[in-house]
Amino acid sequence: STFEAFKLNRQLLNAVADAGYVHPTPIQEKAIPLALAGHDVLGIAQTGTGKTAAYVLPLLMKVKYAQGDHARAVIMAPTRELVMQIEEVVVQMSKHTDLRMVALYGGLGPKTQIEILEKGVDIIVTTPGRFLDIYRKGKILTKEIKTLVLDEADKMMDMGFMPQIRSILEIIPIKRQNLLFSATFGERIDRFAAEFLEFPERVEV
Ligand code: AMP
Repeated sequence: STFEAFKLNRQLLNAVADAGYVHPTPIQEKAIPLALAGHDVLGIAQTGTGKTAAYVLPLLMKVKYAQGDHARAVIMAPTRELVMQIEEVVVQMSKHTDLRMVALYGGLGPKTQIEILEKGVDIIVTTPGRFLDIYRKGKILTKEIKTLVLDEADKMMDMGFMPQIRSILEIIPIKRQNLLFSATFGERIDRFAAEFLEFPERVEV
């Protein structure tokens, strides 16, 4: 099959073609239609499967174009390195749109990141800790957030980020779409999904 079979717009299909993707990977084949239909998705997929584009494309389709000043989608990942990799995919796939994004992570002062936020963004890619830091400085308004992605959720749990994730889930709107990705499946992820996802569709590769 091809990407043309998905209900993606021309800007996204052109970006997919520019990236050299011809056929969707199995996780993309399964997750993209479900996410585009608005479902919560629990995706079990490892790095290398194409999982990033599997959630980035539906997310970009939903956010679509620059609007307002406040983020409408947030992608959360456990490490600065992973945030930077995801940022690259978002930049690549949104290249034919006017969407604005910011990547938030530690290791350097938040000044530049806050300046970008203040100019207005549509999408935030972030680690849980840095998101909370900047939120507590009053620099993130969460009420427009309608899509939340948690990537490598199992690793976030291993790294002890659950309290931060719980705090974040309390400050973002309840009515939202959740896309949860994990490399492994187990009781913890199952419990987390039962607590925070609404009738999730589970996909596995
Ligand atoms: P990920 O699992 O998201 O880290 O992606 C692993 C690699 O696969 C990245 O280098 C992507 O650019 C690449 N990739 C993702 N989707 C496709 C696709 N449909 N066709 C070819 N390469 C892809």
